[in-house]
Amino acid sequence: MTLRWLATATRRRLALAVALVLVLGVAAAAFVEVREQRAAAAAAAAADTARALARADRADDAARAVAAAESATLAAERSAHARAVEVAARAAADADLTARIAAAEPVLAASADQVADDAVRQALAAALDGARAALAARVTLPALASAGASVDGARTTVEQAHAAWRTETDAAASAAEDAAAGDQAAAPGPAAPAAPGGAPVFVTSVPTADGDGSNGHMPASAMCLIPWGTDQIGSPQYLRCDAAAALTRLNDAFRAQFGEPIAMDLTYRSYADQVAIRAYYGALAARPGTSNHGLGLALDLQEWPGVYGFGTPRYVWLVANGPAFGWSAPASVREGAAYPEYWHFEFSP
Ligand SMILES: [Zn+2]
Repeated sequence: MTLRWLATATRRRLALAVALVLVLGVAAAAFVEVREQRAAAAAAAAADTARALARADRADDAARAVAAAESATLAAERSAHARAVEVAARAAADADLTARIAAAEPVLAASADQVADDAVRQALAAALDGARAALAARVTLPALASAGASVDGARTTVEQAHAAWRTETDAAASAAEDAAAGDQAAAPGPAAPAAPGGAPVFVTSVPTADGDGSNGHMPASAMCLIPWGTDQIGSPQYLRCDAAAALTRLNDAFRAQFGEPIAMDLTYRSYADQVAIRAYYGALAARPGTSNHGLGLALDLQEWPGVYGFGTPRYVWLVANGPAFGWSAPASVREGAAYPEYWHFEFSP
């Protein structure tokens, strides 16, 4: 090969190497890592040497210098790549921890004064502080992951404590309701159908002898008194006789499981009472003449969310075992429906 060809080829490779060094120089400037600065500086120095040698027409030395520049460039490139991978991994870890913090913050806020022992909330607050500090201090990736696990663990503990607190509070409210009902039932004279605050209390309607069998007009002859259950103020409960008999069998199984009878609120509703309920509750109540309560084929449990609410043992048991006795929770009132009513069950023979 001629010196002239070599010089041309060398200049071409030199120009490429210098361009690479320039590009990497810009990239390297974005990072503060010492090793990259060193590699970029070595590449730049080698390129300077090669340029000087090429100018002096010392082609062999220039070729060696170009090789050195390329090698330094490659090292800088590898370092930059490793750095880019590390930056991506850190960005992902930061985002992950940020998401865990965002999920835990509302749990902490919503549980204020609603756990039995505030120590679990304080532990969550401390875990959140630690996680925020870890983010700000750019700690190692394993330390970020550990901060995230602490936040998750503390959040779960608060969620459980909050759920336990709610169950306990609901049960206490039910007990208070029971006590109030007992007082009222024991009071002399007829029970006044008004709750504290003046809201009317709707009790199960009594079927009349002359009913024609239409919705809300069931004849007494088709209806049976439920022998084992009254509502919270001692009013009797009526259902169509086959529904009442099936409910009594279901209640026997329920009592065997929970040691107490099913607590009923309302069963039969006459047409007149359906009109009154609709007038009071508006669209929340069924249109008069359409409710299965008017046929003596529906019952409402007591509205005690901690006892019969969605997911409670009694609700789950009734949904699972009721159908064997003809009693089921219609899809239209299940959890997640537009108007969920955990208390409403219907009989279909
Ligand atoms: Zn109902």
